[in-house]
Amino acid sequence: MLVSQIIRNKAQQGVVTLQPGTTLGEAAKLLSEKRIGAVVVSPDGAKVAGILSERDIVRVIGQRGAAVLSESVDTVMTRNVFGCKPDDNADLILQTMTQKRFRHLPVMEGEKMIALISIGDVVAARLAELELEKDALTGMIMGY
Ligand code: AMP
Repeated sequence: MLVSQIIRNKAQQGVVTLQPGTTLGEAAKLLSEKRIGAVVVSPDGAKVAGILSERDIVRVIGQRGAAVLSESVDTVMTRNVFGCKPDDNADLILQTMTQKRFRHLPVMEGEKMIALISIGDVVAARLAELELEKDALTGMIMGY
């Protein structure tokens, strides 16, 4: 299964992004309202400046207290963001996410982000695929 197949249903939804300079408090509000675990920091919705996950927010609050929520996302976000391409294989990106211990990957067309996939999206797509394979095998064995 390819990344392009996983993002087909998500593509219309667009990607939730935050402008650089947004406060961590506003970022936490956005994650809560949208019920998501990470947000890409981008000046224009396409270029990736960084990624901020709920784990980053929890970590800095744990280290420095809740006053940190009035500071900018820029100092806390991860700047070295790994991305994937639409024609990457889903198994490969699951491996990357597991090895590198993050759950989100921007899907890039060159320098432009076209989608964001989470480990949950990949697992759900793989489970659906396995279910189809199971039905096909059952059909072959039972002769439907
Ligand atoms: P996550 O598991 O995605 O909530 O993120 C765990 C940590 O990895 C956080 O510090 C994120 O900022 C960072 N992170 C998340 N996604 C990526 C990514 N695609 N590339 C690099 N770092 C990431």
